[in-house]
Amino acid sequence: MKTESSVTFATLGLSDKIIKSVEDAGYLHPTPIQEKSIPYVLMGRDVLGGAQTGTGKTASYALPIIDILDSSSSKARMPRALLLAPTRELAQQIANNFSVYSKRHSLKYVILIGGESMGDQEKALDTNPDILIATPGRLLDLFERGMLILSGVKVLVIDEADRMLDMGFIPDIERIANLLPRIRQTLLFSATLGKEIRLLANQFLINPREVRVAPSATIAITVEHIMLGAEQKKKRHVLSSLIKSENYQNAIVFCNRKKDIASIVSDLKKLQLSVGELHGDMHQYKRTNTLQDFKDGKLKILVSSDVAGRGLDIDKVSHVFNYDVPIHAEDYVHRIGRTGRAGRTGKAITLVTPDDEKFVDSIRKLTGQSLQVKSFSRKIMHETKNLDLSVKKKINHDNSLSQLENGNKKNINSNIDSSSSSGGGSKNTRSGKIIGMGNHIPDFLKD
Ligand code: AMP
Repeated sequence: MKTESSVTFATLGLSDKIIKSVEDAGYLHPTPIQEKSIPYVLMGRDVLGGAQTGTGKTASYALPIIDILDSSSSKARMPRALLLAPTRELAQQIANNFSVYSKRHSLKYVILIGGESMGDQEKALDTNPDILIATPGRLLDLFERGMLILSGVKVLVIDEADRMLDMGFIPDIERIANLLPRIRQTLLFSATLGKEIRLLANQFLINPREVRVAPSATIAITVEHIMLGAEQKKKRHVLSSLIKSENYQNAIVFCNRKKDIASIVSDLKKLQLSVGELHGDMHQYKRTNTLQDFKDGKLKILVSSDVAGRGLDIDKVSHVFNYDVPIHAEDYVHRIGRTGRAGRTGKAITLVTPDDEKFVDSIRKLTGQSLQVKSFSRKIMHETKNLDLSVKKKINHDNSLSQLENGNKKNINSNIDSSSSSGGGSKNTRSGKIIGMGNHIPDFLKD
């Protein structure tokens, strides 16, 4: 990730021990959300964070929490930090970050997620973890089995609260919050800070500090965005054709509906492409394996629901194809966030039907990008119409997307026909730096 700040991790008040691990991770400077959030977390304040995946938000709470926990010791079977994530993948990814950041510490964490052996997780709890990283349902299951004592939790993190809301997890979060001590530190992160999230924040946080980074700032400027008009019934052909003509290294195809995933996977397999699927109905072990295969380069294309759009830190994705325009504008930012990471270039191509115009409009508003819809050239339309998916036909490179961009300007969506891209840089305004807070952890956070 590109960070341009002149602020260092040391000036934020983190301990030398954790700064060494951060340096080992290759981070030169804090990201804007880290710069804004870390000092308040170290002070013991509740924090309402407006930031999404890709902004470095995990470290914005993980680093200070590790410092806080390191300043005191735990009692047997009484974890001191609870991190709640909406999906298993995000929980896993948070855990990966913790293992990197806490490698010089003797803190233990366990992951408690659905779809994996309850017995193994019960055994892991016997090791007296300091930190629980959990999805809400599994945490409650284990609590109800008498496997957990939550009265020692001093820090609660609710990550991706907007997704928790979408997925109907709020009643679970309410139940969990009631099992925790009332005097605790609570950090709530959400990609958006709309009315419903603020109501939640009122419910769970006490006098929080609000920190946020603008959503448009989180669209990497290295990503080229292409909105391509397509008729609904031709989308599968169009997608196959695009994938064949694009010079991708690896790609994620996002669909709004799970039922489309299987059809697209089958289309792409017929083209003898290396493709896998990822969605919420799959067994956890299958999801984990598929994701690993994609990360390892064994699979070149992943066709996914939004489950993979959020929170996944998959490096070096060259292309994102949105088979559908996402209904929630924030999901566009999440999906696109899979590419163009760490200053790399990326390409995001979205298929837009005439009915999608209102969704594209919300994306424009959220991102501040003009995102004009281009036409899909007649020539390609003709070829894709006749594309026999069972026969691997070679589509010439002069049918490539670049030709689409420069060639036929007739618009399916009657919209303006030119390209658009790039996100704005964030204005990072921080008032005053808090020095040396690592040594001033508030008492209630200590044993
Ligand atoms: P996150 O938004 O927490 O999912 O982080 C996105 C990616 O940014 C992850 O690959 C992190 O390892 C990376 N990252 C987090 N903080 C920094 C930083 N300060 N400098 C460089 N990369 C970072």
